[in-house]
Amino acid sequence: MEAADQTVLCQLLAVDLTDYCYRVCSRCERVLPVDNNNGVTSSVCKFCKSKVPKLLYRILMSIATDTSVKTVICFDRAATVLFGCSADEFFHFTKLNPTTASMVNQVFDGEMLRMTLTRPHNLNAQHMRVASVVPLRSGFQPAIVTLRRLCTSNASLGNCSTKK
Ligand SMILES: [Zn+2]
Repeated sequence: MEAADQTVLCQLLAVDLTDYCYRVCSRCERVLPVDNNNGVTSSVCKFCKSKVPKLLYRILMSIATDTSVKTVICFDRAATVLFGCSADEFFHFTKLNPTTASMVNQVFDGEMLRMTLTRPHNLNAQHMRVASVVPLRSGFQPAIVTLRRLCTSNASLGNCSTKK
């Protein structure tokens, strides 16, 4: 039984940033496997031998529709709409400004979105995938825009560690 894609109006409750991205080869976009011994991902692609990895988003999000609360998984294309930058840029931004990661949920709190959800091809996958996302609030700004502004205005207070 193939369920059709469904489009829902929802409120974004939370994004899980504990494990929000994964590494792929920047040339062929195959996922780079994580070595078992120390959890470090090898950055050499065994298919095309490229040594340039890049990060893609893979984020679990809690959303509330008018009928239920559910967890969905959001991959790179849809997540980029919400974050406003690549996963690599976001990763480096949060490394430079460690406090910003915890601010993401405040920035997104209650954001109204229209999402198209699809059933995962893998039947073992637990969560529906976000195929596309459209922010509905007229003044919506991607997270990185808001975070950069907060960091600029807080820099003088030392809230966003902008160490030189
Ligand atoms: Zn490759």
